Amino acid sequence: MNIDVINLGPMDNCTYLVTEGQQALLIDPAWDMNFLKHTLEQKKLMLIAVFFTHGHFDHVKFAQILLQETGVKAYLEKNDVELSGIDPQFLHIYEGAQTLDIGPFHINIIPTAGHTAGGVCIQIGNALFTGDTLFPGACGRVDLPSSNPREMRKSLLKLSKLPEDMQIFAGHSYGGKCSSTIGYERLKNPFMRNAIRDKEIL
Ligand SMILES: [Zn+2]
Repeated sequence: MNIDVINLGPMDNCTYLVTEGQQALLIDPAWDMNFLKHTLEQKKLMLIAVFFTHGHFDHVKFAQILLQETGVKAYLEKNDVELSGIDPQFLHIYEGAQTLDIGPFHINIIPTAGHTAGGVCIQIGNALFTGDTLFPGACGRVDLPSSNPREMRKSLLKLSKLPEDMQIFAGHSYGGKCSSTIGYERLKNPFMRNAIRDKEIL
């Protein structure tokens, strides 16, 4: 499995292109659909599924164009559908945890509300795409309309229990960094550390 990080848009968003042979997934495709389409064409890839970690505009902007043109539907958690503004006909809408086998990919969707009500992390093999739930050294904002700080602490605690060598890939490259490991975050991330410390009161 190969993972390309593509930085697009004015907010340091990270779109991930995950490939196995010529089959490809896109996670949080946003902003520049021409670039993404050219990338797929140049690499002769077949796009087989799209995932959104959550419905915030900076993770979904212009994605409907790509979905419409390719006929590939995007997976989005029910609670973030309205937020995304994407026409449901272009979506696979689901609720809660999911296990999916799509082409060569075995995918676990882990609900991680807190930043938004329908936020998820997407695990494929040893990679975990964390959207705006977990960043290297930080977590996502919890002061937005469907945010919930208590849910965020629960979500961080849930992620802290994943294997320590699991690689995380966040939804933005704030400070130029979008990747880390669960083990490193468990030791160094103050938000995850607080969630572990406070687990008795969650
Ligand atoms: Zn967000």
